[in-house]
Amino acid sequence: MLAGLLLTVSACLALVPAAPSDSALAKLNATSLDRSAYQLAVDTHANLANVQRLREAVLAVEGARTVENTYTLIDRMTGVLGTAANECGLFSEVHPDQAVKEVARQAEREISALATELSLDADLYAALAAIPLDGLDEATRYAIEKDLRDYRRSGVDQSEEVRAKVSELNKQLTLIGQEFSRNISDDVRELHFSGDDVLTGLPDSYIAGHPANDDGTITINTTYPDYVPFMTYAVREDLRRAMHAEYANRAYPQNLEVLDRLIATRHELATLLGYPNWAAYVTEDKMIGSAEAAQTFLDKIAVAGRAAAERDLGMLLAAKRAVHPEATTIEEWEKSYWNNKVLETVYAFDARDALPYFAYERVREGLFDLCTQLFGVSFEQVEGLELWHEDVSAWDMSDENGLVGRFYLDMHPRPESGKYGHAACFPYREGLADVQYPQATLVCNFPNPAADGLGLMEFGQVNTFFHEFGHLIHHLFAGTGRWSRNAGISNEWDFVEAPSQILEEWLVDPRVLQSFALHHETNEPIPTAMVDKIRASSEFGKGSGTAQQLFYAALSLNCYDQDPDALDTTALVKEMQAKYSPHPYVDGTHFQCNFGHLNGYSAIYYTYKWSEVIAKDMFSRFEVEGVLNPDTARDFRAKVLGPGGSKPAAQLVEEFLGRPSSFEAFQRWLEGEGTDA
Ligand SMILES: [Zn+2]
Repeated sequence: MLAGLLLTVSACLALVPAAPSDSALAKLNATSLDRSAYQLAVDTHANLANVQRLREAVLAVEGARTVENTYTLIDRMTGVLGTAANECGLFSEVHPDQAVKEVARQAEREISALATELSLDADLYAALAAIPLDGLDEATRYAIEKDLRDYRRSGVDQSEEVRAKVSELNKQLTLIGQEFSRNISDDVRELHFSGDDVLTGLPDSYIAGHPANDDGTITINTTYPDYVPFMTYAVREDLRRAMHAEYANRAYPQNLEVLDRLIATRHELATLLGYPNWAAYVTEDKMIGSAEAAQTFLDKIAVAGRAAAERDLGMLLAAKRAVHPEATTIEEWEKSYWNNKVLETVYAFDARDALPYFAYERVREGLFDLCTQLFGVSFEQVEGLELWHEDVSAWDMSDENGLVGRFYLDMHPRPESGKYGHAACFPYREGLADVQYPQATLVCNFPNPAADGLGLMEFGQVNTFFHEFGHLIHHLFAGTGRWSRNAGISNEWDFVEAPSQILEEWLVDPRVLQSFALHHETNEPIPTAMVDKIRASSEFGKGSGTAQQLFYAALSLNCYDQDPDALDTTALVKEMQAKYSPHPYVDGTHFQCNFGHLNGYSAIYYTYKWSEVIAKDMFSRFEVEGVLNPDTARDFRAKVLGPGGSKPAAQLVEEFLGRPSSFEAFQRWLEGEGTDA
């Protein structure tokens, strides 16, 4: 659900945010955010040329190195590179013109190559390291220390021979990663089923969308819109089992070898840089600090979540035993089906009943109102801008001191032009005090009100909207510092989900929900009984869901914390699934071949659970002081969101809570004693 987002954030983080351009304040007043292919190429090359000029300016400085004569230029350089990356990252995913997309993708490769080159530039590193840190303010010192650490982690202080090898391995990794991802997205499989009951149990709209072929068979494929409803509703278990076998073997066998190469190349790079393995390298600059700490964290969650997972499995089995009295397991191809049966029978909750209360525009207004109530901000639509598609809208967010930042909503699908298919927040400009306002774009795929005047959303989509908007306001609020290095969502990677996960907590508050979830015909608020059902049914599945996430996280970590020569990834999937998942491994399947996060996240898929523990902990202060308490919310903005990456995340959380972060709120939630209970 959040995969794309984090990849986007990380892509931004990897290059370091932002755009300290002299004309940036004026740029907010620009009338066009659209780009032709030609203009995007011109702008990108101007940005890259600017980076090179700044690099030369840093190296040309004579005399003692200072923040003013050196760090100002280095931070601007990385900021300009970040701007180029942000623009191309956005347009390669959303622009309807394929020529613009192609220019953006090509530019992304050039930007990435230049970023690697800069990260290995020993002269730049020497200039940075020569700046005295004594007497600097906290944020400046932290920005420089992070840059110095990143240079060292890149291998800048290694021999010329090692640096050349690092550069070569990084190039290989980009290509191998692209190959791994492409094999997954290219491998859409389909099966042709015969029989009168192939679609029995599925919604009418799904049946209407799946007419019989000339030979009487019905085709189901492995894309989400086809696969997910089929696995949830299809009555015929044998067909679900056959579909699952195809789904779990996407990109097999080709990715088996690609994944081995990806893991081995990362291991080679990590050991070349002096680390025992890739997991040690990639966790070093995160909150968690080490691969051992990540494993300890996963084991702690496993213990804390055991009872809830067993409770959920017991409910699934009870539902299954009503039909199959001898059942002892819930198989992979059965979990969605029985999950839905439990929701229908135990909670009497049919997700379709809630649809009329979630028309897109109402939901958007409700979310804006919530932010107004919490943070005292107001929203105003910006008219007259040229944007990249007619569905896109522009908004200014202001508070009592004036404009906070601008954002763009690109919220509805455009499959015909290959628009990004998930939900994500794309930073566009980092905010810098007295230089430029922050800007960002939300890219989602919610039902389009232009189609039917309503755009009725499922509750899960509303939840996604809240989540992504959490990233957006984090980016905008964190736009008042001096340095690009600290601006926007530039915290440690395993923290960045917490500010978006916390916004989901408000959605299940009955007062918030009933304030905006109004029936599109009657204008009546969503009935209390339905709110209760939504809340109660959201309790179910958190144990089994946590166990499933643990399996993914443990697989991710264990692929990268050992000697790759001895690693058999299929055996590892079996081992980790047996240890963490409530569902047994299915013989002959190869989940690791289509688990795309083994490329993007590599060893650190644990980050979602880590962030969630922090989000639950931070929200516990609202539980005590009032869920809609504006003083608490403004303190949250001042101490957690506003500072961006100017301090270590653990320190931000501690300053907000008045104590170090703890595991207790998450544990209470798992046990069903939190606010959701
Ligand atoms: Zn997210």
